[in-house]
Amino acid sequence: MKVNAYGTPNGATPLGPIQIDRREPGPKDIVVDIAFCGVCHSDLHTARGEWDGTKYPCVPGHEIIGTIRTVGGEVSKFAVGETVGIGCMVGSCGHCGSCKAGLENYCENGWIGTYNGDSADSPGHTQGGYSQTIVVPEHFVLKIRHSHDQLNAVAPLLCAGITTYSPLKHWGAGPGKKVGIVGIGGLGHMGIKLAHALGAHVVAFTTSPSKRQDALDLGADEVVVSRNEDEMAAHVGSFDLILDAVSASHDLDAFTALLHRDGALVLLGVPDTPHPTPDFGGLVFGRKTIAGSLIGGIPETQEMLDFCAEHGIVSDIEMIQIQDIETAYDRMQKSDVRYRFVIDNASLESAA
Ligand SMILES: [Zn+2]
Ligand SMILES: [Zn+2]
Repeated sequence: MKVNAYGTPNGATPLGPIQIDRREPGPKDIVVDIAFCGVCHSDLHTARGEWDGTKYPCVPGHEIIGTIRTVGGEVSKFAVGETVGIGCMVGSCGHCGSCKAGLENYCENGWIGTYNGDSADSPGHTQGGYSQTIVVPEHFVLKIRHSHDQLNAVAPLLCAGITTYSPLKHWGAGPGKKVGIVGIGGLGHMGIKLAHALGAHVVAFTTSPSKRQDALDLGADEVVVSRNEDEMAAHVGSFDLILDAVSASHDLDAFTALLHRDGALVLLGVPDTPHPTPDFGGLVFGRKTIAGSLIGGIPETQEMLDFCAEHGIVSDIEMIQIQDIETAYDRMQKSDVRYRFVIDNASLESAA
């Protein structure tokens, strides 16, 4: 079926209206009419070819909320008319150890991205949520239990939410734990909300003093301006966990120094150029860890969505029409958004 979308034929051309093909649904597929799609930094990097390997034409978008139009004959967990979510993945091998453990995001044979992933469908790769409709295997579709008026602000949970929730859970954030969140952007603002809701003592790190009150409003117990050496020194050796949502290359030692014995600094972003080599002595004295984490598996993504519905947690968003996507990208690059753009996909009706 042909649907309206927004995409680009190459990295140098701004996104514009195009029509794309969606496959006819198979027995295990669900057809979802998309209502909202969050705008992630990965969309911009991929569309503009800033990471190697973008497949064109590129239609980004992996924070998708929509309504089920039809279900295949073997679909058992979902029904027509249900509100559902689709995140960063639409496929994985299903049989490796990671997939069997519900960690499709670490599939040993490579998971299939919601966009820019290999696909048997036209045009040979997956195309994402900047479109009217998407066809997704049931296994990768998520239940949404938030109230109807929250749905646009739920969309960013599908990437920004799970990217922070998964490491918070894995490293045991909760009551009695001191958790740092570095960088108050799309990821970081969700990290603050989730760590707070999990019961941890939350400290937000920012380079801009102007974000201090924002961080407190999001749920931080304390805010540290990371350029202020005295403020940083006051926290040396005190953290159980620090989530680092800053992808630009930076000095990690400033944060490993703040970890307590057995503490972990967990990197959520991949820098364009490597971070300076960490001071390994600083890790050895204190049995500290520098680790990484990538989104989360499907069962944990459902757990996160249910946790957020129960606690009334959504993303802070600014709605846009698809026609404003390039302006949104430019503003996102300048961190000029509090804290996530979400596309009203109804605006695709007039596109193409
Ligand atoms: Zn993303
Ligand atoms: Zn697998």
